[in-house]
Amino acid sequence: KIILGIESSCDETGVGIVRLDSQGGMTLLADEVASSVDQHARFGGVVPEVASRAHLEAMIPTMDRALDAAGIQLSNVDAIAVTCGPGLAGALLVGVAAAKAYAAALDVPLYGVNHLAGHVAADTLQHGALPAECLALLVSGGHTQLLKVEDIAGKITEIGSTIDDAAGEAYDKVARIIGLPYPGGPPIDKAAQQGNPTAIKFPRGLTGPRDPRFDFSFSGLKTAVARWVEQQERDDKPIPVEDVCASFQEAVADVLTAKAVHAAKELGIGTLVISGGVAANSRLSGLARERCEQAGIELRVPRPRLCTDNGAMIAALGAHLVAAGVRPSSLELPTDPGLPVDTVYV
Ligand code: ATP
Ligand code: MG
Ligand code: FE
Repeated sequence: KIILGIESSCDETGVGIVRLDSQGGMTLLADEVASSVDQHARFGGVVPEVASRAHLEAMIPTMDRALDAAGIQLSNVDAIAVTCGPGLAGALLVGVAAAKAYAAALDVPLYGVNHLAGHVAADTLQHGALPAECLALLVSGGHTQLLKVEDIAGKITEIGSTIDDAAGEAYDKVARIIGLPYPGGPPIDKAAQQGNPTAIKFPRGLTGPRDPRFDFSFSGLKTAVARWVEQQERDDKPIPVEDVCASFQEAVADVLTAKAVHAAKELGIGTLVISGGVAANSRLSGLARERCEQAGIELRVPRPRLCTDNGAMIAALGAHLVAAGVRPSSLELPTDPGLPVDTVYV
């Protein structure tokens, strides 16, 4: 069966195509993404109206490129999956409207799916089916959560989350403070390679003995970076950008990996999946690798391309739903900007 996935929750228009074989195996046939990120860069963040318009313009060309890349025609598509939340209201509407139109015209089932579950499902395209139970660390621009995944096609439970900023949001805000472009993850990751991760002592939020064990906080870290930079400026000292990046990145990776490994041990779960845009971070995956090895935990991190927003992950999640025999969504499928992570499909 051929499952086509449409993603439009933020600033990436994605169309992915996956082939599901009778054994439940999946082959990625196409993964086309058009991003409006350049149009948002000068504002330092995504402008919802600009994103919606860009989705509208990119949807059909991206669809055509995906069909071309897969070497198939629309008539070969057996099911359509689409992100129906969480995300920007106007952006979600474009993808869902397109998906409904294609599903109705082709007379194929429609699956409205959760973007966050999609981030986790992305890993199955690279590493195959998930074990019966795994822990997922979801780290993206809008979310930072620890999830217990018992069934990617339905049973996901949140066991912890950030109480303020998401990890990706912290990267984007810190980049702004030190004058690096938006989005901040890639340039900070790059600058950090040249810096000393122990040069500056930045705080590790919520890691005290009395703090909630599986929750995160990154706004204090962001403020600490801002204060440190201001002090340098007051003292007329230059800003050692590489050292700031390396020290900030170390603090983020340290907290995320320590808490994830701790949670896996405490819940007796043997596999950790890291996904979402920040999973593309070199230090996060490197430190996770070290700590999981020490703790005897299997680590799965998809390649960077599958970590950031894309349509392939939505097609993959759709394929899991098709394989599980889940009832499709109605053509009245609503969008839900605040869709909770435990609602895998609607
Ligand atoms: P959500 O999935 O929560 O709705 P989103 O879809 O906007 O949010 P993603 O596209 O999954 O988020 O991830 C984007 C985030 O990932 C941005 O904040 C970006 O800075 C961050 N990011 C991308 N690459 C890297 C990297 N190499 N290191 C750190 N962060 C990164
Ligand atoms: Mg994005
Ligand atoms: Fe995302």
